[in-house]
Amino acid sequence: MRPSVSYVDDNFLLYYLLLFTILMLTISPSHRRGCMRAHTATHILHSLLASIFPMTKQAGSYVGPDELRFDFYADRLLTNDELIMINNTMASIIA
Ligand SMILES: [Zn+2]
Repeated sequence: MRPSVSYVDDNFLLYYLLLFTILMLTISPSHRRGCMRAHTATHILHSLLASIFPMTKQAGSYVGPDELRFDFYADRLLTNDELIMINNTMASIIA
């Protein structure tokens, strides 16, 4: 005889993910705001890097509540002047 009770229905994963998303948005608004800031900064950084390396492509990124990382392809290192320009421009946009 087959068991007639199933503890995991077809939509269990969907319900779990929905609950997790609601909890993340509800319980941790500061985490969410931090990720939003880093996400916006990533787009600004990408734009500035594209002005220096027109043919560059994003190779990956990490966006977290306190930091971001942006990976990209380039045929050379950034110069000190370019790093200063990126830093100053980002600071002026964000401020
Ligand atoms: Zn985006």
